[in-house]
Amino acid sequence: MGPIELAASLLAAGPICDRCLGRRFALLGEGLTNAERGQYVRSAASGLTVPVAPGRCWVCEGLFDRVPAWGREAAGLVRDHEFTTFLFGVHLTPRLEAIEEFLDERFPSLWAEPFKRDMNRELGKAFERVLAGQGRTATVDFQRPDVQFTVDLDRGTIELVINPVYFYGRYRKLVRGIPQTHWPCRGCRGRGCERCHGTGKQYPTSVEELILPAFLAAAHGTGGHLHGAGREDIDARMLGRGRPFVLEIREPKRRTLDLASIAREVNAYAQGAIEVLDLRPATADLVEKVKEERADKRYRARIQLARPVDEPAFRQALASLVGEIKQRTPTRVRHRRADMVRRRRVHAVQGKLLSPTEAEVDVLCQGGLYVKELISGDDGATQPNLAALLGVPAQVTELDVLDVLDDL
Ligand SMILES: [Zn+2]
Ligand SMILES: [Zn+2]
Repeated sequence: MGPIELAASLLAAGPICDRCLGRRFALLGEGLTNAERGQYVRSAASGLTVPVAPGRCWVCEGLFDRVPAWGREAAGLVRDHEFTTFLFGVHLTPRLEAIEEFLDERFPSLWAEPFKRDMNRELGKAFERVLAGQGRTATVDFQRPDVQFTVDLDRGTIELVINPVYFYGRYRKLVRGIPQTHWPCRGCRGRGCERCHGTGKQYPTSVEELILPAFLAAAHGTGGHLHGAGREDIDARMLGRGRPFVLEIREPKRRTLDLASIAREVNAYAQGAIEVLDLRPATADLVEKVKEERADKRYRARIQLARPVDEPAFRQALASLVGEIKQRTPTRVRHRRADMVRRRRVHAVQGKLLSPTEAEVDVLCQGGLYVKELISGDDGATQPNLAALLGVPAQVTELDVLDVLDDL
């Protein structure tokens, strides 16, 4: 069936407005609105030029007349929010869903567009007009809009979702004993008990808790999370260029932040416990990239040896650590990590004896290798290991990450 015959059969089915008629031919006539298409096919199919008022249309029942009000309401919801991109979506009424199905069955058209798409577009245009009146602009973003509106056509309500804003940065942890993110208390699992003095936390603070407040205050966000590129042990320092992270701030009112001033604020607040550097705006995609990052790391370990060791034996044992390491998930984390055998490379090792029973060792290795177990052997779960090569039990007493060699 050609467009004109299709239009004629649609017109015979009941009173239909130009927009709803034209929507069945949306892919025809570039540069026209659906209403203009409807007007054209109406006169071509029937010779009539008198339009049907939208209020009398059996498809939309005048629903589009409410679009300007929804546009104003949406703009009101985000009056206090900074955003540059938006997206509208709609929930159809059950009646409209049935009509869409009926139209596709009874009047199939190769050129139709869905009611939803037409409505979303009109809502977006109405919203943009209100913004323009306020001297603001924003563009549609189908992938990751800053703000997202869903209009429920049945109830006439608008639901707003303010998407997070993201920042990249690196942190240095200059003291031991601070976890990367907050840990719920083991005694109460976060509810608050005597052991944690009602805080619900296992540790008084974390890298995340030291960084977040300045961002939340500046962005007027409701919460946030630090996504780290891996994490060092709580008792290890993180030195050098620091560890990459992406900070996610939920429901921000401000997205453009003065990051230099935030860095100063965080560093003053953390009082030398941690430092942030290299802050810059980021996108949601970077969260996954940062989490998947398996960069080489450079470590420095202080080691306690159970019996005296001489220099030649020590050097020989270090040299034998270079190469592939087979490492079963360490006993200390087996309760919360998958139990498996990893293969990771040690690229280089250097070290010196500080006394016959004390040593300092620098290890350059692939990300994901547990260095404490590389030294102790973890009851044979890591092979080779320094203790076995020396024939002397060995423990790491202090561990520092000297560098994360990523290219983020
Ligand atoms: Zn209509
Ligand atoms: Zn507790």
